[in-house]
Amino acid sequence: MPISDFQVVIGLEVHAQLLTASKIFCGCSTAFGGAPNAHTCPVCLGLPGALPALNRSVVEMAVRTGLALGCEIRPKSVFARKNYFYPDLPKGYQISQYELPICEGGEVTFTLDGRDHTARLVRIHMEEDAGKNVHDVSADGSSGVDLNRAGVPLVEIVSRPDLRSAEEAVEYLKALRAILMALGVNDGNMQEGSLRCDANVSVMRKGASELGTRCEIKNMNSFRFLKQAIEFEARRQVELIEAGEPVVQETRLFDPDRGETRSMRSKEEAHDYRYFPEPDLPPVIVEAALVERLRAALPELPRAKAERYQRSLGLSAQDAGNLVADAAVSAWFDAALAAYGAGPEAAKKVANWVIGELARLANETGEAPATWKLTPARLAAVLRLIDAGTIGGPGAKQVVEEVFRTGAEPDAVVKAKGLAQVSDEGAIEAAVDKVLAANPGEVEKYRGGRKNLVGFFVGQVMKEMRGKGNPAVVNALLRRKLGD
Ligand code: ADP
Ligand code: MG
Ligand code: ZN
Repeated sequence: MPISDFQVVIGLEVHAQLLTASKIFCGCSTAFGGAPNAHTCPVCLGLPGALPALNRSVVEMAVRTGLALGCEIRPKSVFARKNYFYPDLPKGYQISQYELPICEGGEVTFTLDGRDHTARLVRIHMEEDAGKNVHDVSADGSSGVDLNRAGVPLVEIVSRPDLRSAEEAVEYLKALRAILMALGVNDGNMQEGSLRCDANVSVMRKGASELGTRCEIKNMNSFRFLKQAIEFEARRQVELIEAGEPVVQETRLFDPDRGETRSMRSKEEAHDYRYFPEPDLPPVIVEAALVERLRAALPELPRAKAERYQRSLGLSAQDAGNLVADAAVSAWFDAALAAYGAGPEAAKKVANWVIGELARLANETGEAPATWKLTPARLAAVLRLIDAGTIGGPGAKQVVEEVFRTGAEPDAVVKAKGLAQVSDEGAIEAAVDKVLAANPGEVEKYRGGRKNLVGFFVGQVMKEMRGKGNPAVVNALLRRKLGD
């Protein structure tokens, strides 16, 4: 039976690190990096007798996340101990939430191939992160444990098994990431692991009413790996079923080098976490007044913003979706548009630069929009230089790149690099005459009706003028000289 006779079913568990300054149960810094174990204290080291105290910002960020996703906020939720042994978990348990999580229900809406899809959520709960085992730390090849990350606050966002393809899972995660970033509760950095995801994958015959047995693939830290892992896993399960073998519920790891998933441990034995209510922390009480205050202060969320960009700025759905995927980028876009002008034409121009050239440059340097040396005001200045005919398209690209790298003012770059466009008819005419004289055969063909040769002539004139001829003037002069 081919894979097309099967339906893949996916539920995602997403871990998002909350952007608090200090950890969830102690005052240690959450900063990424730092010397191993520099950000630790008796509480996050798990020393006997040290007592946790809940960070209020964690609760507020979890509630804001729940409100943005349409969850119900539980007035009284409870932390629980999830018991397991691992060297990077010195207490022997992780403080999480189990039976009574802070948020329940809710949903994430995303767009795929122009259609809206919705995946429902089961719950959102708060928990602490574990530390990290570091291997080969010294010459003798021994391993160490870095507990800087232990106690860093996370929310885990659990979806229902509502996703039906690897592409849907990726778009779900992109939409969720954009929302978390717009809320300012997570930095969206999948490479550093501040946003990561476990995928539960099963397959069933099309039309079947009962879901198949699932496997859980742990800790994917890129959209590409998520997609590859789901596709591999679905194929693996279909092959098992076709061969008459059972799919065994287990936890698997994705190996990006080989593009395959591997068994890590069986679910049954690992699953007995012996959850019980955390005796060192009181229940979390979230008062209705706090919920309403946080609800009133929610920012504009990505889908609403994308809709507004389409409705009031005339941007395409694709451009709008692109801009709102990163709240910092759309804020930069808003500022650049405000600095440059209003109306659909201005919006389209600014959007093109942001989505095209600036995304490329930012990708190279990895810099966040707020620290770009090309400020919104400087992009506006470049656009005005184009509008005034001072620079053309190729020149503008060079100016933008230089300003992006150095922070110089656009008009100074134009002068220093001699990028000003030549609009002077005399200079252009000289170049046109030279090109026509050098290509008598083409001129004859053009006059004989091969009008599409105009592109060839424009190219030659531009080459002659080292790309600086004003294209409108070049075109007009060429046509006049060729006798149109
Ligand atoms: P556990 O407590 O073992 O983690 P849950 O019932 O909480 O199990 O489910 C964990 C995740 O697995 C959820 O995201 C859920 O949507 C997903 N899931 C449950 N059943 C299936 C299935 N048959 N196929 C795919 N995903 C599933
Ligand atoms: Mg789970
Ligand atoms: Zn600490």
